[in-house]
Amino acid sequence: MSTTSTTTSHLPPAAAPVATPAKDRPAKNRILTGDRPTGPLHLGHYFGTLQNRVRLQNEGMDLFLVIPDYQVLTDRDVADRLTEHVEGLVLDYLAAGVDPSRATIFTHSAVPALNQLLLPFLSLVSVAELGRNPTVKDEIAHSRQAAVSGLMFTYPAHQAADILFCKADLVPVGKDQEPHLELTRTIARRFNERYGPVFPQPRTLLSEAPLLLGTDGTKMSKSRGNSIALRASSDDTARLIRGAKTDAVRRISYDPEGRPEVSNLVLLTALCQGRSPYEVAAELGDGGAARLKAVATEAVNAHLAPLRARRAEYAQDLSYVRGLLRAGNARANEVAERTLAEVREAMGSPS
Ligand code: ATP
Ligand code: MG
Repeated sequence: MSTTSTTTSHLPPAAAPVATPAKDRPAKNRILTGDRPTGPLHLGHYFGTLQNRVRLQNEGMDLFLVIPDYQVLTDRDVADRLTEHVEGLVLDYLAAGVDPSRATIFTHSAVPALNQLLLPFLSLVSVAELGRNPTVKDEIAHSRQAAVSGLMFTYPAHQAADILFCKADLVPVGKDQEPHLELTRTIARRFNERYGPVFPQPRTLLSEAPLLLGTDGTKMSKSRGNSIALRASSDDTARLIRGAKTDAVRRISYDPEGRPEVSNLVLLTALCQGRSPYEVAAELGDGGAARLKAVATEAVNAHLAPLRARRAEYAQDLSYVRGLLRAGNARANEVAERTLAEVREAMGSPS
């Protein structure tokens, strides 16, 4: 879709400088991405974006993780068990290898200057542009609300503020985020044209699994009751995979277009085992869906065992998690206040 979008295999060297007109460009490339605090992270997050985040962090990039608590309200009336979900996400990050001494983890609601960027940004996009966003349309279709709120239509511009407040160069996300990244680039370009160079053009980074399906055959999502959580027990994982939608053809093949559900389980197995999905499918041959599910379960449980053990350890000390959030919020506030000052200066606001 986007010319600036890239996949893992086509990623330029992580340390390569990215051209940006921003005055305050960070010394090393910066990544921003995040997850709504609506439930525990699942396999879609892990293979869609989390692995890339950790890899890039380990290659020396500066990782910012936003937990967008305000965006919980896009598709529901109240944010349920917010603190528990926020802390749960931090535990998932730590378990997956996010290094708290290098990463900045923060919540939307704790960074007022970030949120202020939303106002000028909204003036740079038309109502028609917001209305034709395909991801927003899909989310409205799955929403629990009787009426669609203004936040649902405007949250992609809010997400532009998340990405641009810290002048991120690279945004590792799943495929559903591509329209939002396109909008972010549009907002950055229009702001720079109108007021002078402040923002970079962030690139999208997709993984080999940019749209992992859930047990019902639609996008695996925290809010759709179709996900396999990273923290799930081995038994729950087995039960969920056993109940996953497949088809009646005995011969297993890897054909994402023609056989999306079977191919999804084949891909999941391949990703856990570090192999090609074609090889996994060939090996399963005429084994049928039951064999595929048994192999997928074994692969997922084996791959996630160390992560699950680490998560259980971190979960013993939630005060550590709260301390990380306090430090992350403080750093995000410093960065946001600097960017807001630049924005106000560019726009000619009185100092
Ligand atoms: P919710 O149902 O609350 O919207 P979600 O499961 O869609 O939750 P998000 O917090 O909206 O998760 O998304 C966080 C990040 O994870 C985004 O970058 C998104 O693209 C990515 N992601 C989410 N689900 C998948 C998936 N099934 N496959 C690949 N990437 C995904
Ligand atoms: Mg989502």
